[in-house]
Amino acid sequence: MAYRRTESYDQDVTESLMGHYKSILQLLGEDAQREGLQKTPERMAKAMQFITQGYQQDAVAILNSARFEESVSEMVIVKDIELYSMCEHHLLPFFGKAHIAYIPNGYITGLSKLARVVDVFARRLQVQERLTTQILDAIKESLSPLGVAVVIEAKHLCMMMRGVSKQNSVTTTSAFHGEFLNNTRTRNEFLKLISSKLS
Ligand SMILES: [Zn+2]
Repeated sequence: MAYRRTESYDQDVTESLMGHYKSILQLLGEDAQREGLQKTPERMAKAMQFITQGYQQDAVAILNSARFEESVSEMVIVKDIELYSMCEHHLLPFFGKAHIAYIPNGYITGLSKLARVVDVFARRLQVQERLTTQILDAIKESLSPLGVAVVIEAKHLCMMMRGVSKQNSVTTTSAFHGEFLNNTRTRNEFLKLISSKLS
């Protein structure tokens, strides 16, 4: 069967959002009837529902769906996971990369599931600090590992486009648990590994 991309939207929510977005366009001084804007309220309504779909998703269930018993206890790292989220203060995007590591304690999970957990929490209205700890907590809850580390580097459009206009500033947040918190050597090894470029 051919791959089919499906997106489903709640009809009532979509229609209600469309009405509000039309008002917003008018309040901003636009002619909501002009050709280029006629379908904009519908596109915005669908885009915002897509961007906030994480509210309907359960990160721990996703991790548990690919949880396997495994006796390895070496650090597992997935780095440079693309991330797109929305700042809850300005409803403007922030985007960047997440780096995740954990040390298994009897269980591992599918590597792609870690990337999906990033999406589950990124696709909500967020602050970068909370996003970082929510990812960490979900991994902790599902896998009970010996340690978890999450580092996020992101650029915030609310800083780049408005106000202070700092185009090149990158915000880095981190959260550590277990071995990464208690053992400096382990934490430094992780930080070295995520900052080194693959040759
Ligand atoms: Zn902001």
